[in-house]
Amino acid sequence: MDYKKLADFLFPDIDQTPEDLEALYPKRQLPEGAEVTRLAPSPTGFIHLGNLYGAMVDERLAHQSNGVCYLRIEDTDEKREVEGAVPVLLDVLSYFGINFDEGACKADKPGCRPSNVEPSAGETGSYGPYWQSMRSRIYKACVKKLVAEGKAYPCFMSEEEIAQIREEQSAAKLDPGIYGKYAKHRDLSFEEIQARIAAGETYVIRFRSEGDASRYFTVRDAIRGEISMPENIQDVVILKKNDLPTYHFAHVVDDHFMHTSVVVRGEEWMASLPIHVQLFAAMGWDVPLYCHNTVLMKIDETTGQKRKLSKRKDPELGLSYYKELGYFPEAVREYLLTILCSDYEEWRIANPLADYNEFHFSTEKMSDSGTLFDINKLNDVSKDVLAKKSAAEIYDFMLGWAKEFDQAKYKLLADNKDMLLKVFDIDRGGEKPRKDLIYAQQIFAFIKYFFDDTFEYESEWPAEVSAEDRKEILARYIAGYDPADDNSAWFEKVRGITADLGYAVKPKDYKKNPDAYKGHVGHVSGVIRIAVTGRANSPDLWTVQQIMGKEKVAQRIEKAMHA
Ligand code: GLU
Repeated sequence: MDYKKLADFLFPDIDQTPEDLEALYPKRQLPEGAEVTRLAPSPTGFIHLGNLYGAMVDERLAHQSNGVCYLRIEDTDEKREVEGAVPVLLDVLSYFGINFDEGACKADKPGCRPSNVEPSAGETGSYGPYWQSMRSRIYKACVKKLVAEGKAYPCFMSEEEIAQIREEQSAAKLDPGIYGKYAKHRDLSFEEIQARIAAGETYVIRFRSEGDASRYFTVRDAIRGEISMPENIQDVVILKKNDLPTYHFAHVVDDHFMHTSVVVRGEEWMASLPIHVQLFAAMGWDVPLYCHNTVLMKIDETTGQKRKLSKRKDPELGLSYYKELGYFPEAVREYLLTILCSDYEEWRIANPLADYNEFHFSTEKMSDSGTLFDINKLNDVSKDVLAKKSAAEIYDFMLGWAKEFDQAKYKLLADNKDMLLKVFDIDRGGEKPRKDLIYAQQIFAFIKYFFDDTFEYESEWPAEVSAEDRKEILARYIAGYDPADDNSAWFEKVRGITADLGYAVKPKDYKKNPDAYKGHVGHVSGVIRIAVTGRANSPDLWTVQQIMGKEKVAQRIEKAMHA
């Protein structure tokens, strides 16, 4: 068979060769040791924690080595594509602190998807186009070379034929797929190919595998080290009927010509590594360093078993979930680093205030098997992160969040800046800052008693205090309340009311001798606390009242006397 003739026949309009492309996309001029990484999402509109985690690895590996981190859009599957997905992706990733140096990273208006083959306004960099749908000619130049060398061939098998083969294989308990004798169109003659095409038959291009499943090859994974796998025997499709390549071939071509040095991707791609290594070899190219990330797992609430986070069942898999609830991006990043790098937590303890970018990221310390994601732990990390923020930082974050997600809260924040700065400052700083702020929605719920519109009684009145005593306590309290009192003078007055009404000033006296008292000072101050905040638990009540001001305190007490 004259393969060169076949290649010219199949790709008459492709005159570029891979050598020409080498000249167009020369080696990058980067310092020694600089890594080139990429995020290569499909524009499906769903951006998940795994994407962020991968992007964090990409970003760190590139930037800590003065390299390049670029964004490539893998839009070869038109069925999965969602209009406007890229701007959303860029927006969410940038919220979490991931910005790209190069690639499809300028698509700043919804629907900005280049439709022609010229580099468009939607990208930046000299190794594009960065949208796979625009790279058809590049892939075809490479496929043409493989066909010319007898390493790839057109396959006309219909879906029905393939389904039938699969049935046969399943009945005979054989591995499924198009390989060996099942690769029926491997050796069609030139004339037959010509005749089928003339008759209007459509075809894909398959790679002609010379692999042998009993032979093993080794490859180094950045996380797992040397791994050994059997060679691929499948004649995989490399070019689809729509003239676009499959993922297998597209990423090989792109990572080669874009000079990616580390391919960070999900663990689910590990199984197809033999195909990829084989395709690199067939093209005569070096294999980049692969870094297969672990999948995120969770404990299923109903079964108690570990399982993969699922898009359908777990809203917390989607990144927009965290943005909409108003998690601080740092908190999410910090938590992901904690679960995915075994040396991160130790580093953080030693460097409590350092920027996470100062941590030296090393793939060997990354987890190599299903990592457990636990939203409660994320919340704990978030509390720690927020405890280190100043009141002004919290306020500014909340304002930005509310501006995007909740106009009413935005107005509330804007109108009450001075008060809120004091609220966020309660028990901040010092040795043991309060750790009760987690994310914007929760923070609003946490401070809602400061606003009359959202104030409500959330706790029960202490059972030890009768309704009559409650009124009496509140009446005496407001009569004596003076915001000029310091914390101890204020509490002295509360003690006075306690003793006057027959309650124990020291809780332990009441515990020792419960019949001698109606209750103790905690029950009396509990009444005041619920009256002022609606809650049995709140930050320091004296401070809360200082922030509210006498008028609001008086109104709350008045309201409670009639509650
Ligand atoms: N488009 C592939 C995905 O979204 C990319 C895998 C890779 O990074 O190579 O899973």
